[in-house]
Formats: sequence, structure tokens, C-alpha cells
Amino acid sequence: MSHERPILTARLVRSVPLSGETKHLEFAVEEVPRFDFTAGQFVSMREPHDGREMTRAYSIASPPRADNTFDLCLNRVLDGFFSNFLCDLAEGARIRFHGPHGYFALKSPVRDSLFIGTGTGIAPLRGMLQWLLADESRHLGREFWLIFGVRYEGDLYYNDEFLQLAREHPTFHYLPTLSRENPGWTGGRGYVQEHVRRLAQGRSDMDAYICGLKDMVLANRDLLKGLGWDKKSILYERFD
Ligand SMILES: Cc1cc2nc3c(=O)[nH]c(=O)nc-3n(C[C@H](O)[C@H](O)[C@H](O)COP(=O)(O)OP(=O)(O)OC[C@H]3O[C@@H](n4cnc5c(N)ncnc54)[C@H](O)[C@@H]3O)c2cc1C
Repeated sequence: MSHERPILTARLVRSVPLSGETKHLEFAVEEVPRFDFTAGQFVSMREPHDGREMTRAYSIASPPRADNTFDLCLNRVLDGFFSNFLCDLAEGARIRFHGPHGYFALKSPVRDSLFIGTGTGIAPLRGMLQWLLADESRHLGREFWLIFGVRYEGDLYYNDEFLQLAREHPTFHYLPTLSRENPGWTGGRGYVQEHVRRLAQGRSDMDAYICGLKDMVLANRDLLKGLGWDKKSILYERFD
């Protein structure tokens, strides 16, 4: 019996810069009328390079939709093949992938939750929050905090979308946080952990969804555990 995973084809429909080094990509899957997945999952993109088949995981940055589309949010990694290949991909180009994969997904029943992301770690959190907030029967009026950490204001990807969601949903609290000096910035400052600590203290009845690079994920996970949170309440996706 073959255990080969079916390979699908994604056509790049739209490529939009989010900052100098980051792109928002919208794909359509050619083989299916509807591409189904759970918000927070990832796809494995494939491309030959130097005679080898390269595979890289990318979190889906959109919620499941009624059609065959999905979004990615990714940044150029210095000297990295795949991230630069995707950032340079022309609209209309095709790429092979398999998936969806992964267990980074919303828990059920949904509870008050912290969504903690830095940089492109916002990708799966965007999909989860858009899915949750689209329907009262999904969010059940629970409170959600998005603590989104970046260096500079210009790196707050999807900022207008999150501001809009916060205006529409009083139970959704958007806390953008900058770690570098930004003159005129009146929002959160410093590392996401400082804000997580304030929100998480004495609240072990919540869940946390953490996504980003290793050091940030581990720092937040350890912080929550140190505050007495059950490890089953702490879900995370590491990009490295
Ligand atoms: C489950 C999963 C989901 C992922 N989802 C995303 C996503 O939504 N968006 C995204 O941009 N990346 C994501 N990544 C990272 C992605 O798979 C690649 O590692 C990244 O694009 C670098 O690949 P590369 O071939 O360009 O460079 P490589 O030569 O493979 O990587 C060089 C180094 O870059 C570091 N690195 C990895 N990811 C990043 C990053 N995002 N920013 C800065 N440095 C990084 C790693 O330490 C790695 O060793 C995800 C990884 C995993 C495991």
C-alpha cells in the first residue's frame, strides 16, 4: 500500500507586500472546488532546488472558506531558498504542495483565550481569529486578546483588519506591541511576554495559542507554566 501523500497544485492569485521583507500570498488549489482545513493548520510547499526536492511548511493565514483558496504570510529569510522563492513568485505561477497538516487548532469548547504572535507568527492566528469571530456560535461571546509583537510599526501586518475586528467585536482586544523605539507610538511597548504576564496572571481558566520563532514561543510557554497554567491550555506552533 502506498503512503504517498497526494500532491496538489496551488496557483498564486495575488501577491501583496506587507512590508519590505514580507508578503501576503493568496493561492487557489487547482484540483479541488473547495480546499478544506482547520484554521491554524499548515501546508508543505515543494520545489526542486540544486537537484533536490525542497519542502517547507507554511501556516495558512486564512480561515477555511467555501472555495479553493488559502492565504500565506511569509518573510524573506537571509540566504534562505524557499522564503525568497515564494516572495519572488509571480502571480499566475504554480507550486506543488501537500497538506493541510498539523495540530495547531482551536480547542473545543472555546474559552477566553490569549493569541500570542510575533512577526509572521501572526499567520495562523489571523486564520483562527477570522474563523472564530465570523460566527457567534463559534466564539460564544468569549473574550480574546491578540498580543502581536513586532519591532517597528510598519511590521504590524494586517493592522487595519485587526483594528476593524476590534471595532466590530467588543470581546476582541487587539494589543499591538513594538519592541524598538518608534517615536509617536502610543500603543504597547517591549516584548509580548510583559503583556502576557499581566493578562494571564490568576487566569488559569483560559487557553493560549502561541506562534513564532523558538525563543519567543518557549519564553511565553514557560511564563504561563510558571503562572500555574496547565500545559494542555498552552498550544503553540514553532517556525524554527
Ligand atoms: C509548522 C511551520 C509553519 C511555518 N509557517 C511559516 C509562516 O507562516 N510564515 C513564515 O514566514 N515562515 C513559516 N515557517 C518557516 C518556514 O518553513 C521556513 O523555515 C522559512 O521560510 C525559511 O525557509 P528558507 O528555505 O527560506 O530558509 P532556510 O535556509 O531553510 O532557513 C534558514 C533559517 O531561518 C530561520 N527561520 C525560519 N523561519 C523563519 C522566519 N519566519 N523568520 C525568520 N527566520 C526564520 C530558521 O532558524 C532557519 O534555520 C514555518 C515553519 C514551520 C515548521
